[in-house]
Amino acid sequence: MKKILLLLSAIALVMLVKAQVQVRPLPKNGFDQRIRNFINNLKVVDTHEHLGSPSGYMKSGRLDFMLLLQHYADDDIKSAGMSKPTFEKLLTDSLTVMEKWNAIKPYWESSSNTAYNRAVLLTTDQLFGIKNIDETTVEALSEKIKKAYQTDWYNHILKEKCNIDYVVLDGEDRSFGDPKMFRYVKKFDCINIDSRKKVEIIAKRQNLAINSIDDLVLALNEEFQAAIKKGYVAVKTAVAYNRTLFFDDVKKEKASEIFDKILTSSKDSAFSFSEVKPLQDYMMYRIIDLAKAANMPVQIHTGLQAGDGNIIENSNPTHLANLFLKYRDVKFILFHGGYPFGGELSTLAKNFRNVYIDMCWLYIISPSYSERYLHEWLETVPANKIMAFGGDFMNVEGIYGHLQFAKQIVSNVLISKVKDGYISENEAIKIAQKIFHDNAIEILRLHQP
Ligand SMILES: [Zn+2]
Repeated sequence: MKKILLLLSAIALVMLVKAQVQVRPLPKNGFDQRIRNFINNLKVVDTHEHLGSPSGYMKSGRLDFMLLLQHYADDDIKSAGMSKPTFEKLLTDSLTVMEKWNAIKPYWESSSNTAYNRAVLLTTDQLFGIKNIDETTVEALSEKIKKAYQTDWYNHILKEKCNIDYVVLDGEDRSFGDPKMFRYVKKFDCINIDSRKKVEIIAKRQNLAINSIDDLVLALNEEFQAAIKKGYVAVKTAVAYNRTLFFDDVKKEKASEIFDKILTSSKDSAFSFSEVKPLQDYMMYRIIDLAKAANMPVQIHTGLQAGDGNIIENSNPTHLANLFLKYRDVKFILFHGGYPFGGELSTLAKNFRNVYIDMCWLYIISPSYSERYLHEWLETVPANKIMAFGGDFMNVEGIYGHLQFAKQIVSNVLISKVKDGYISENEAIKIAQKIFHDNAIEILRLHQP
């Protein structure tokens, strides 16, 4: 029995190794370096960022080595055991650099293996010439960061170090960033309504009386038209942090009934998710109606939720299939390579002409997943539907580190596919150009002013 099992696993292994098919003649010597060089020098479109303003950081208590650990690294430091309040204190100026280091040291040392934290180490090395984060380096690193922010640091990183053409920002702050380079996406919070208080916030912001579901839709419409005038390039939704991505196609009467109940409730009582779901679902369809009329793509957070404690099944992209079926003309961009639902994402992007893959955030979640699934996506999904890079960072240094990860991994995949004769060297170059640059310009219509 044991022998049979061994034989079977040997056969399975051989089948795995043999999974490559050769379609093209094998490449000429030096193709690997030529592909790497091309990717290292190409212009990039960064499809998704949360950058904070440099002046905001200069006023904050985190313009020291903690700037590099405040986002993503913080998740793994807390996952390794540091409490949230203790971590928060390290982002203020109530402690010296050395006191901050002493507090974080055991958690940093426990978690420095993760890709979030490897990206930080690559960044400190390549941007600040410091190889390790420890008691001998944190003060020098902090000084270097402070000095950097006295210079034109954002442009230096984004333009000179990253060679980025466009940055698509998920945020409202337009006080920084070269307007030729920055584009913006808009989130709509009317989807999250669960209390009268939330309705009143929207009414106040839109300067409208909201007394019925029609008024609510009107408020959404006005907000949407204002967003178009301001030049937003896409609609973004991150509701998978709070609820399932399954949206029922709800009749207006049903949504209206719930909305009226909310309006007559006391201001502070929040309704349960099951009570408000039909209303939220209804509003999601109205948002997509507007996106459709404006020919605006919809970016959807799928997969892993940042921070601690969440329900991963809520963010499974397969929940969205009924929306894709109903709105065949709306471009749906699914974020984060759907981690860990990469196979599901393959089938959706293959099956629906209006579904696109965005690999933002992905390489620092898991480089090996990114590599594995980019292989699979290039075998299953047309290359004009894949966008390879979005840093997804609050601090600009993270974008640089993340981009180095992305370039290495995309190079690895394309080189491997050329080596196996699946694509030619020339095809690999064309794919790199598309997924790092041209696709995002086309899909998000970034050339429009
Ligand atoms: Zn994001």
